[in-house]
Amino acid sequence: MKTIADLGDLSGKKVLLRADFNVPLDKSDNKTITDDGRIKAALPTINKLLEAGASVIAMAHLGRPVPGDKTTVAEKDGKTIDNSKFTLEPVALRLSELLDGTDVILADDTIGPDAKESAAALEPGQVLLLENIRFDARETSKLYGERQELAKELAELADVFVSDGFGVVHRKQASVYDIAKILPSAAGELVFKEVAALSKAITDPERPLTVVLGGSKVSDKLGVISNLLKVADNVLIGGGMSYTFSAAQGFEVGTSLLEEDQKATALGYIEQAKEKGVNLVLPVDTVIANEFPSSADGKDVLAGVVKSTEIPADKMGLDIGPETRELFADVIKSSKTVVWNGPAGVFEKEAYAGGTAAIAHALAEATAAGAFTIIGGGDSAAAVRVLKDPTTGQNFDEDKDFSHISTGGGASLELLEGKVLPGLEVLE
Ligand code: AMP
Repeated sequence: MKTIADLGDLSGKKVLLRADFNVPLDKSDNKTITDDGRIKAALPTINKLLEAGASVIAMAHLGRPVPGDKTTVAEKDGKTIDNSKFTLEPVALRLSELLDGTDVILADDTIGPDAKESAAALEPGQVLLLENIRFDARETSKLYGERQELAKELAELADVFVSDGFGVVHRKQASVYDIAKILPSAAGELVFKEVAALSKAITDPERPLTVVLGGSKVSDKLGVISNLLKVADNVLIGGGMSYTFSAAQGFEVGTSLLEEDQKATALGYIEQAKEKGVNLVLPVDTVIANEFPSSADGKDVLAGVVKSTEIPADKMGLDIGPETRELFADVIKSSKTVVWNGPAGVFEKEAYAGGTAAIAHALAEATAAGAFTIIGGGDSAAAVRVLKDPTTGQNFDEDKDFSHISTGGGASLELLEGKVLPGLEVLE
């Protein structure tokens, strides 16, 4: 994969940068960024480009706007979508703060007159952010010709392209894929770091390699499970998906999440693990509730802990139990490489967050003992940011407790599946 160094002398050059600034906003005002991790993750690349004497024209998306501009209001799937919620204004402000006050100019449009004029006037050391790239319907078009047209217009703004939006490299989109076919291109620091970490873990891991999977559905992670069963020494399965494995073996799972149509697949995985000598560990106990909690902490419906094989017909499993936590922690702590994707329970509710917190703690201990530990984006990354370490009662230290926290949920899953990602292939 080409890196920024391969682009040669960037002094005086204009660099078109695809970043992932898809940050969560506070729903009450649609302005306050509640987690700026993705903006921070782009800083090494932006700083490197600015230090090299370049100017930066950043492209990014935010949320799911309708085609148009920041003033467009339209109906989509029966809902009224107001694009003013999806302007990159909060991102421009935060980015400027994080760049120690460097002015970040926000274009009024994505690739209209303002974007073009501002790009033409850009001086070395300056940063321009184009408005939400998904305001332009061609960005995500399935038609090559439409994407190509947008990519060509974008390419005219700059001399070279740097791809640093790891969260979107699995997408064949104009600002991710098509643009790289037009301009001299390279991976940014973040994309390089993410790919290095995730590929090392599954292609050349120090063993034992343990994979911890959770989350809601088996069907979302079929590719990941089957690919990882080929390379891992241990696969630990918790979360909603574990009940399909349990039901597949003939056990009662009550009203827990169950995908009937995936039972055969789950049994297939159990078989495959046996054949390959992979230690597949399923929960032995589970925290149950009377129903899915609606209260903030979920305690009102909490109904105790039972063996995973003895879930009453009217109860719902919402977290791994204490015995399972210990079982998982022992395997994690004796591993040299750990990859974790998906929470072990409904961590958003305090009463069912213990399993996920215990896994995070075990990863932190493994990291301290020298293991290479990766959190594969999405909900598990969110979980370690909000949950407290059960033994210290303190927040986890993102830098110290884990070797790598991926910024891309979908992209990291696809890399773990062993897929070729279009936005990476095009940088080869
Ligand atoms: P995913 O996006 O597939 O990683 O799933 C994440 C979601 O799975 C989180 O919102 C969790 O609340 C949810 N989840 C985890 N365990 C369970 C469970 N036992 N029952 C229902 N949902 C669960």
